[in-house]
Amino acid sequence: MSCISCGKSEAEYRFQALEVQTLHLREFNGERKIQALGNVLELDICEDCAMAHLSGILSPGRNLFRKILPFALLIPPGILLTILFRGREPVYLMPGICAILCGCLGGLSAIMNACRRRQEYAVLDQKEALTKAAWDAVSACAPKKVGDNDLTYIPVTRESLARKNGDLMILYDLIPDIAKEAFRRIHLQETLHSVHTVGKKNEQL
Ligand SMILES: [Zn+2]
Repeated sequence: MSCISCGKSEAEYRFQALEVQTLHLREFNGERKIQALGNVLELDICEDCAMAHLSGILSPGRNLFRKILPFALLIPPGILLTILFRGREPVYLMPGICAILCGCLGGLSAIMNACRRRQEYAVLDQKEALTKAAWDAVSACAPKKVGDNDLTYIPVTRESLARKNGDLMILYDLIPDIAKEAFRRIHLQETLHSVHTVGKKNEQL
């Protein structure tokens, strides 16, 4: 299969991933979700795309700018509104103050997430970091919706195979019965190589 990101025909990394379909239902007493498991898919990505994704995580400057920009754009109008309504009743000041707060908190959260992510990758060796980045890039490129259902993916890796039902439930936001079934399904794949490379890279990762 070709690279899910750039379409290159010889993708070096291949992942197996169990598809999870989630339908969110809004009801009078809150939100309820219905989940079902789909197929185990094979998703490929080339080394160049994995490397580019890893570089973006380790040197997050440009990506971070893109994430911070929408929040930063809230701050000037917020300041303007606050100045315009200065001295008026607090209710008039609220929109401006809220815009400034949202801008600052959103930007700060994006910076903290980028730092945390960078730290997660910085402690890994090059090969592990590249494999992790490859999966991260694959899951970012994989379809997010089918009809009204949200799509998420559980990678069939040594790491996920080592997890218990409860861990899968928390990590992938699964309902209890689906977590049990997901645990069974990913272990069915254990006889196959969970994550393997194809083409010129054929070592077990
Ligand atoms: Zn590619």
